[in-house]
Amino acid sequence: MQALKQKIQAEGIVLSEQVLKVDAFLNHQIDPALMQQIGHEFARRFAGQGISKIVTIEASGIAPAIMAGLELGVPVIFARKYQSLTLKDDLYTAKVFSFTKQSESTIAISAKHLSASDHVLLIDDFLANGHAAKALIELIQQAGASIAGIGVVIEKSFQSGRAELDGRGYRVESLARISSLQGGRVSFLD
Ligand code: 5GP
Repeated sequence: MQALKQKIQAEGIVLSEQVLKVDAFLNHQIDPALMQQIGHEFARRFAGQGISKIVTIEASGIAPAIMAGLELGVPVIFARKYQSLTLKDDLYTAKVFSFTKQSESTIAISAKHLSASDHVLLIDDFLANGHAAKALIELIQQAGASIAGIGVVIEKSFQSGRAELDGRGYRVESLARISSLQGGRVSFLD
């Protein structure tokens, strides 16, 4: 998605060879017009798939997910993060290791919002090593729901998440694919 790639080049900050900061437009200050285009693009790529719900993870996944939900006309659920959580019957839960915080937390979705009849599109802001996506997949599997695919705003293709999700047979659609952050520069795969 050209507008997204231009925005990354203009306003993204390479913090290290592993981390790109995009808090000027994606996950702190948000550019609503760009987010609308992102929602439109996800909806275009997953049109006609019978998606009934979008699932994301708080907080940074919410903005792109809600715009895609608006375009597809389906509800958006965000998994909540807890430092610790005693198991409850009415929750689906999974453990997730945070790439940015380098700590583990538990994420949960209330069972009343997701069921075996749902066909789910997963959305997140970044795909790095795939921990967030795999935890969301676990929650969806607990509900018995099926997965239409995974929509990612920015994929760092040099990390392991993409290959792992491909290997498990999931359809992954990334709107910008970064091949390298070396030398303080963002390089795209395509
Ligand atoms: P993963 O779980 O795939 O290893 O990492 C994805 C999650 O970590 C995303 O939800 C995102 O919030 C965060 N993340 C991963 N890489 C980056 C990055 O380079 N920059 C920012 N801002 N967040 C990232």
